[in-house]
Amino acid sequence: MEKGKIGVTTENIFPIIKKFLYSDHEIFLRELVSNATDATQKLKTFASAGELKGELGEMSISVSFDPKKKTITVSDNGIGMSAEEIDKYLNQIAFSSANEFLDKYQDQANAIIGQFGLGFYSSFMVSDKVEVISKTYRDGVPAVKWTCDGSPEYSIEETEKAGRGTDIILHIDKDSKEFLDEQRLENLLKKYCSFLPVPVHFGNEKEWKDGKMVDTGKPKVINNTRPAWTIKPSELKDEDYNKFYHELYPMGEDPLFNIHLNVDYPFKLTGILYFPKIRNNFEIQKNKIQLYCNQVFVTDSVEGIVPDFLTLLHGVIDSPDIPLNVSRSYLQSDSNVKKISSHITKKVADRLADIFKKDRENFEKKWDDLKLFIEYGMITEEKFYEKVSKFALFKNTAGKYFTLEEYDKIIKENQTDKDKALIHLYTTDPVAQHTYVAKAAEKGYDVLVLDGQLDTHLINALESKDQGSRFVRVDSDVIENLIKKDESHSSKLSKAQSDDVAQVFRSQVADSDKARFHVRSESLDENDLPMVITQSEFMRRMKDMAQFGGGYSFYGEMPDSFDLVLNTNHPLVVALAGDLDKEHADELKKNSAGIEKTRVEIEFMEKEHGKKKPEEIPSVEKDDLERLRGELKQLEEKRKGILDGFGNEHKAVRQIIDLAMLANNMLKGEALSAFVKRSISLL
Ligand code: ADP
Repeated sequence: MEKGKIGVTTENIFPIIKKFLYSDHEIFLRELVSNATDATQKLKTFASAGELKGELGEMSISVSFDPKKKTITVSDNGIGMSAEEIDKYLNQIAFSSANEFLDKYQDQANAIIGQFGLGFYSSFMVSDKVEVISKTYRDGVPAVKWTCDGSPEYSIEETEKAGRGTDIILHIDKDSKEFLDEQRLENLLKKYCSFLPVPVHFGNEKEWKDGKMVDTGKPKVINNTRPAWTIKPSELKDEDYNKFYHELYPMGEDPLFNIHLNVDYPFKLTGILYFPKIRNNFEIQKNKIQLYCNQVFVTDSVEGIVPDFLTLLHGVIDSPDIPLNVSRSYLQSDSNVKKISSHITKKVADRLADIFKKDRENFEKKWDDLKLFIEYGMITEEKFYEKVSKFALFKNTAGKYFTLEEYDKIIKENQTDKDKALIHLYTTDPVAQHTYVAKAAEKGYDVLVLDGQLDTHLINALESKDQGSRFVRVDSDVIENLIKKDESHSSKLSKAQSDDVAQVFRSQVADSDKARFHVRSESLDENDLPMVITQSEFMRRMKDMAQFGGGYSFYGEMPDSFDLVLNTNHPLVVALAGDLDKEHADELKKNSAGIEKTRVEIEFMEKEHGKKKPEEIPSVEKDDLERLRGELKQLEEKRKGILDGFGNEHKAVRQIIDLAMLANNMLKGEALSAFVKRSISLL
């Protein structure tokens, strides 16, 4: 027997390994099984190069455990190692690279915890002793046994071993007993080894017989050695892709489309990405992509490796070129990762373009489920936007789909306003905003349905790219103002009358913490409604965005602000103005004259005073001006009093407001009961 000391400078490296890796002890199994896989793959390569004497046989790996002896054993029938190789690979190389690694990252302990594996040596995270029994594939070389108890000292001796290959025997330490459990081990193997290229045996198949589960004596294979992504796309049908999807996500709904990735240069990458149906709450659907390195599972958190919107996709990415064993911040700045990321983005866009071109019907059918994903990408990734904006779809209220280019052509003639802006009308809820949609239809305008979570963000982006085009919700103003043409209606009321009626109506609406109302007169068509409620596009959009998060929270806290647009050409409004005239003409006339006169006087005095320095103005004059201002205020109050009183007395005023509220689904509670009562009394 030979004894030696492992060549490391750090006196005792194991406590450090343990400390660094504490959060992810379970990866020891991944490391050992993937070493075993490498050993079998290498042997296959040698065999095909004619370097192997004798039979290659069935390649396999087996994992077993013994709860009494407290051991876990990972065995393979791969290339094996001679004593010299053990010395070279286990004693020197592995340790020195581990040491280098620790030197380099000492200061970033937190960043790297759980982010890297130390290959074979990770077995010391869970063991107080490790034995390696190995016999190389080369003829006539004796089997060897290497033992190390977790100190830098090891021993190596010749031993007997029946066949070629390596057994790694871990003597599990008392803190890691959890791993001596069938279920735990099986779960770990399923997590990390489900798609390894070599069959991994763990325990025996069981079957249901005579009312109980019995051991069949046949070893149970826990992995699929030929997962779909390793197969040529030409050999796979849609069913195969779907079947593999359900292998990854047993509970998942069928995906919409898939993309088979296969890159050789400048990096190696394979994989299959799936477009899932994306429901509204997409946070839950994020981070389902699994990252593999040569078919060994590494992680399912791919942030930083692919752009954020792509994390909505599902599936598998397999690349030996992604530096997996480093911290995330390192990953994000890695140039290979950047290339991979933009490559995947491009592939995804190309695939969508392809489906759009070849099978538009299918694309339209799936659009509603795809839309959120695509819009997310368009908003966050410029490159993706450039490609996808050519075929991103918009749906109108008739349920027809258009690309923006197609749509613009259709509406160009009718929906260009007098300032040459192309106006896209949209509704976020065709049912609730029906009155407005119908109004637009009457004018021959088309209305888009933008009811998606990201639509507001998207139209912001579209507008910023095309200054000549605007998106306005159908209820953000009266239709005449949304698409301004040169025609205008003459008003049946004078300016003063319009202002007075507006105040009459203003007197009958109350602001609340959540809503502010502003009454505004417009001379619309006499066949239009007497009053409509609109909400400014800008404010509403900002509030929508605030709801979604991002830097708009300031708007989120503002009350909603509504315009009550009074149609001063509507017969009911004209009639009210007539009644007002009848009942209060004299009073109002006198009041107007008073206001007019006082205003003139104030204006005159202010002008005079403007010519002098403040100290030159006699105080009598100053007092006079103050008095006049007071009088004006009183006169205005008086007028308001007359108008408010008129509003109180005339039920039609409140009725017209309530009808407008009702059309907008804003009449609720007490106000609704009062409306019903009043309506009956008016009948
Ligand atoms: P890595 O796998 O990253 O090279 P490891 O520390 O896991 O680092 O292993 C070091 C070396 O030991 C491997 O490169 C391989 O040559 C050898 N080795 C480890 N496990 C086995 C095995 N089961 N069979 C044959 N050789 C092995």
